[in-house]
Amino acid sequence: MSAKHPPIEKEIAELRSELLDHDYRYYVLNQPVVSDAEYDAQMRRLKELEAARPDLITPDSPTQRVSGQVVEGFERYTHKRPMMSLDNSYSIDELREWAKRCEKLAEGRAFDYVAELKIDGLSISLIYAGSVLARGVTRGDGAQGDVVTQNVRTIRSVPLRLRAQDGAQEIEVRGEVFLPRESFEKINRELADEGEQTFANPRNAASGTLRMHDARIVAERALDIFCYQLFFDGADALDTHAESLKWMAKAGFKVNANWRCCGTIDEVIEFCNAWDEKRFKLNYDTDGIVVKVNQVGVRDLLGSTGKSPRWAIAYKFPAQQASTRLLDVLYQIGRTGAVTPVAVLEPVLLAGTTVARASLHNADEMQRLGVLRGDWVFIEKSGEIIPQVVKVITEKRTGSEEEFVFPTACPECETELSKPEGEAVTRCPNPDCQAKLREGLLHFSQRRALRIEGLGEALVQQLTSFRLQRDKQGEPLLAADGHPLKLPLLVRDAADLYLLKDRRDELIALERMGVKSVDNLLEQIEASKQAGLARLLYGLGIRHVGERTAQILAQHFGAIEKLSAATSEELSQIYEIGEVVARSIADWFAQKRNQALVDRLQAAGVKTDLAAAAAGQPVARVFEGMQFVLTGTLPTMKREEAKAFLEARGGRVVGSVSKKTDYLLAGEEAGSKLTKAQELGIKILSEAEMLNLGQA
Ligand code: NAD
Repeated sequence: MSAKHPPIEKEIAELRSELLDHDYRYYVLNQPVVSDAEYDAQMRRLKELEAARPDLITPDSPTQRVSGQVVEGFERYTHKRPMMSLDNSYSIDELREWAKRCEKLAEGRAFDYVAELKIDGLSISLIYAGSVLARGVTRGDGAQGDVVTQNVRTIRSVPLRLRAQDGAQEIEVRGEVFLPRESFEKINRELADEGEQTFANPRNAASGTLRMHDARIVAERALDIFCYQLFFDGADALDTHAESLKWMAKAGFKVNANWRCCGTIDEVIEFCNAWDEKRFKLNYDTDGIVVKVNQVGVRDLLGSTGKSPRWAIAYKFPAQQASTRLLDVLYQIGRTGAVTPVAVLEPVLLAGTTVARASLHNADEMQRLGVLRGDWVFIEKSGEIIPQVVKVITEKRTGSEEEFVFPTACPECETELSKPEGEAVTRCPNPDCQAKLREGLLHFSQRRALRIEGLGEALVQQLTSFRLQRDKQGEPLLAADGHPLKLPLLVRDAADLYLLKDRRDELIALERMGVKSVDNLLEQIEASKQAGLARLLYGLGIRHVGERTAQILAQHFGAIEKLSAATSEELSQIYEIGEVVARSIADWFAQKRNQALVDRLQAAGVKTDLAAAAAGQPVARVFEGMQFVLTGTLPTMKREEAKAFLEARGGRVVGSVSKKTDYLLAGEEAGSKLTKAQELGIKILSEAEMLNLGQA
């Protein structure tokens, strides 16, 4: 037998031992050395092998029992009903197969599903004697868990006394303890400052925190919880899961509002697809959707395996983390001159794409992470955001890794780099740096700015590089002193783009350009003149002026002359424009070269006032006559901002939920208003949904 294909017994034994080791590092040390996706792949391989050789299955195989362990130093508690894991499905087809199996086992009884977010934390059991919190217990190995009551008490959203009771002597509520993203980032920052090991993700951090022996530190770390299961005296409390969720919310537990009762598996799939993207707007991690049979009677018919119930399944989103090797670091110059260290990685599959580069942000972040050339690292992707290096797996160091030296001069123009005191970003201060020009042009021409689609990286590179003058045979022409003669640059700033129409032949002579592509490009450049003030302001790449700020400025001033004459004080009077942003705008317009740029853009015929569509109609009153209630903390907006946004569009914001309420705008830690809105069937909006509707 060759070493490539080990005998099945050997491979099974190796996989089991590796999985057990990963379990220990994950559940006890909270410092995994492989990503969840790699762990899941090993587990799947073990399942396949065991399916081929059922005689080799042992009861202690990781495929057969709940992974996880109790840890030393805590009192143990035997769960009245085992705390199980969930079966995973990685595709819509697997989800459909699961639904078919449920139908078969349900013996013709009607049932529906409840789909919920799968919160990426750790499960906890909260046990109430009557209505008073008596115990908080971790899942442990599923049969026995660690008693962490003191720590659980620090979670503000865990009610110490219930607001509703049902005559049961003992009420047990199970839920997921998690760390909001910003708390996680804060913890990692502090750990790094103290020179301690950081956590790879919020789940490991939540798990490590809940098992600490000092409840004061736990309290500082601000854990949170979402609850999803209810027992009265050790038995399922109510007839359906939906009723349990509502009961828990009424009794004062925090229940995630994003659940849906689905009559068919197609509806479930719709829910899964919708959350695949939306989840990145949440301020906590989710790794899938949990789908559960709603009716307890049908659940009983379906039963469970030793590891997980048959009446529930986790539909897993593509993994957001992977581990790979850091081969090198490149230093890229952005349009503002910011130097971004970029990790060059051994290519690895992440969230469905092969990733070979990841951001390291800046010098401070490199130092915080402590990356060395040759290190194994965890990388993470979140929605559209480019992958980032989040942690070094120091356990995998061999001693052959090497230190990186952050450059002191710009890799493009060799100007000495500067890093202002108190700022994290190192910058190239040279206003003529070619790299800045290239990045600035790409930003100027992007879709959300001036939208010149033919202007890609390769073309920008050619437009901003010197080209040699050649004779008819293609030989470089030399000056009298023997130096090769260079042609003038085609583009030195954004305004030059509008002069390209007079240099059509030179464009056609560029590499990979032809008559058609040049004419297309010129047409797009011409059309971009009409983009209007908001998109132009965004395209100019003024520091701190994103799309939203650009829109606010355009609406407020209506024309670029008025904006450029405004002082920093006048700018900061504008609602939503802070001091730093105001100063940055005023500084930009105060610079002669920027004034000249604006003049030249205007001379070229670029529209520097509001686009026709936006002029004269500030915002559509899309919420006219509608009543809104606000609750909880919104991810980016302050309450007054949300209120102003709604009111500007005709909406009315009132204090309490009633039948007359059209929408509840709910953020984090939404409390009783959310429960009431759910009871009344009022539509719940997130901040992102409100912004979307409001743009209509
Ligand atoms: P799981 O996390 O995949 O799913 C089960 C858990 O989901 C439940 O115990 C519960 O805590 C949680 N959950 C979240 N939201 C829920 C909801 N709405 N309803 C019900 N349950 C909800 O399974 P697991 O057994 O806890 O962990 C196994 C996973 O952990 C593996 O698939 C792997 O991804 C990861 N793991 C990784 C390593 C590693 O080294 N990287 C090691 C061990 C485990």
